Amino acid sequence: MQDTLHKFLFEDHSVRVEAVRLGPAWQQTRINHAYPPAVNRLLGELVAASTLLAANLKFDGSLILQLQGDGAVALLVAECRADLSVRATVKLREREVREDDTIQTLVNPNGTGRFVVVLDPPRDTPGRQTYQGVVPIEGNSVAEALEQYMLRSEQLHSRIWLAADDHHCAGILLQQLPSQGGIQTSSLSDAQESWIRANHLADTIKPDELLATDSAAMVHRLFWDETLLVSAPRPVTWRCSCTRERVADMLRMLGQPEVDSILRERNQVEVCCEFCGKPYEFDQVDAAALFQPVPSVENKSVH
Ligand SMILES: [Zn+2]
Repeated sequence: MQDTLHKFLFEDHSVRVEAVRLGPAWQQTRINHAYPPAVNRLLGELVAASTLLAANLKFDGSLILQLQGDGAVALLVAECRADLSVRATVKLREREVREDDTIQTLVNPNGTGRFVVVLDPPRDTPGRQTYQGVVPIEGNSVAEALEQYMLRSEQLHSRIWLAADDHHCAGILLQQLPSQGGIQTSSLSDAQESWIRANHLADTIKPDELLATDSAAMVHRLFWDETLLVSAPRPVTWRCSCTRERVADMLRMLGQPEVDSILRERNQVEVCCEFCGKPYEFDQVDAAALFQPVPSVENKSVH
């Protein structure tokens, strides 16, 4: 079965609805890593959220959601590209976590955790500029933290519902669309009413139901009384975008003294992709080539 993301629009163009439920793409992420259940849940929710937000990217790059933590979880990353290929990883400080641990107890127990959203244009974009938004981690779930971020940073009113277990991760995003530009056909008060109604209906979502139900069927179940305009479903896949060139960039950032010291110790530098586990090996000759003068070296991490 293929994973798909569905988009709908209220008939008056005032509310956008997106829904996703990932099976195979989420399983693939989990094959590469074994995390405790509470961490798995957070990561699945972050993955579902990244696909919902990336579906609105206006450029051919990627959207990265990061939870940087000061607790058992040091880092959670979900990256989704504009073509809806997704990858994700976690860095743990300790594996002993409780089943009922939350985003706050796992990622933000000391209150210094950060929620980072990165919009990363393609590497070959002229004048490429990466956008990065950073906010404190607020709320008791990935959905609440993300809503707080969107409240601070976006013009659009947005709400999001997320869930994840071992088999699926799923989410629904509601966005109130602006009336400017002549696309919205309803009056301001009608549009506001549609938004309130959509929120009211979506607030009945139960996580179990979100995980067990096909996402298009879920939207029709919630909004059965509304006329929805339907966009073509888009496939979501798992794919890692790591390349030898990106790993080489990372080694350049590490610096020649550090790389030389690893070479003296082990005769080669082996770096495994933190997302997919693929190993990249650099011997003495490869490593020497890394530090040959080149016209321009991008100062960018491998994420
Ligand atoms: Zn990789």
